[in-house]
Amino acid sequence: MVKWKNMRQSEFFTRIERNAPKDEVTVNAALLVRAGFVSKLMAGVYSYLPLGLRVLRKIENIVREEMNAIGGHEILMPMLHPKNIWTTSGGWDKIDVLFKLKSRTGKEYALGQSEEEVVTPLVMKNVSTYKDLPRAVYQIHWKFRDELRSKSGLLRGIEFFMKDMYSFHEDQADFDRFYEVVKNAYLAIFKRLGLIAKVTEASGGAFSEKISYEFMVLTDAGEDDILYCDLCEFCVNVEIAKQKKGAPCPKCKKGALAEAKASEVGNVFDLGERFTKAFDAAFIGRDGKKRHPVMGCFGIGISRAMGVIVEKYNDERGIVWPQSVAPFLVHLIALNGADATQVYTDLQTAGIEVLYDDRDLGAGEKFAEADLVGIPYRLVVSPKLKDKVEIKARSEKEVKNLTVQEAVDFLHS
Ligand SMILES: [Zn+2]
Repeated sequence: MVKWKNMRQSEFFTRIERNAPKDEVTVNAALLVRAGFVSKLMAGVYSYLPLGLRVLRKIENIVREEMNAIGGHEILMPMLHPKNIWTTSGGWDKIDVLFKLKSRTGKEYALGQSEEEVVTPLVMKNVSTYKDLPRAVYQIHWKFRDELRSKSGLLRGIEFFMKDMYSFHEDQADFDRFYEVVKNAYLAIFKRLGLIAKVTEASGGAFSEKISYEFMVLTDAGEDDILYCDLCEFCVNVEIAKQKKGAPCPKCKKGALAEAKASEVGNVFDLGERFTKAFDAAFIGRDGKKRHPVMGCFGIGISRAMGVIVEKYNDERGIVWPQSVAPFLVHLIALNGADATQVYTDLQTAGIEVLYDDRDLGAGEKFAEADLVGIPYRLVVSPKLKDKVEIKARSEKEVKNLTVQEAVDFLHS
């Protein structure tokens, strides 16, 4: 197996900051910037540093696994779009958050904020009859929105990382069937990310008269207000709610509705035939007639999910990553001149992901930084411990002294 030589902190090109950045008002951005996961280029636009990129990739891979498991085909579409596809759909004039660019020859372009305009002709080029349907393709890529305000760190980016899947169906019934499949995959994804998502119905957005579904994660940093039942899965966006806080739940009739702040981490749009008609993308139906497929758009904000996870998993000392998305499982710390290179190698040989703090700093400083970074297990090597190592979970106070082999067994359990 390939070992990471580059995960020694003495060789990192970034530093951990002692003080919170003054220009970040949300917990997620303040902690992620301080701990060296991201660096702000401007409001709503961040660079992902080695630690942050590892987290982003882990979230991305969980989403990818679940999309592949329901039959999604991964592709990668351009971010730069010609104007004409956006005039065909009507989005050029109707979508106020669409980024528009002009080239030096005066030619106009848009930056992708969603990709129906690209994916509809792309997929339908290869569909002739109902036998070629359904289809579901997705990508994990950057998106752009010309936001007026972007003060919520990773929760609202002008440039953000997203999974967007598009599906094509011969009729509404088949879309409805597939929606249930995706809903279950989404709930599985949020569970693996350590998040509890509630599904709300909301208005269709930009120009869909149809209902859309939002996957809301409860967090005080969220920008949406929802009403949810404490006993069943009922949940509705306050914008369209017919009920008030404290009212009995209309679904189970037993619970009471509570109000909470939430962040929309996933969404589903039932697009109907809007785009397939606009692009005249058709197929021959079972009755031999020309038809336009019913389309669905299914999004998950990957970078936003990273921000929401930090909003949920932190304490007064820093981030407390859930194991599924942590940049490493173990933060190996050498103290009092100890050389932990052998332990570093042993852990990696055992398939454990390790960040090695081999810097010449005191225990207090190293522990404070390890708590800020929030890797699930801290493992200390020091002459005082002789042939043992000291292991401690980030979320607990208790420490254990174990041999390296015992520590490996414990981490594998
Ligand atoms: Zn209920």
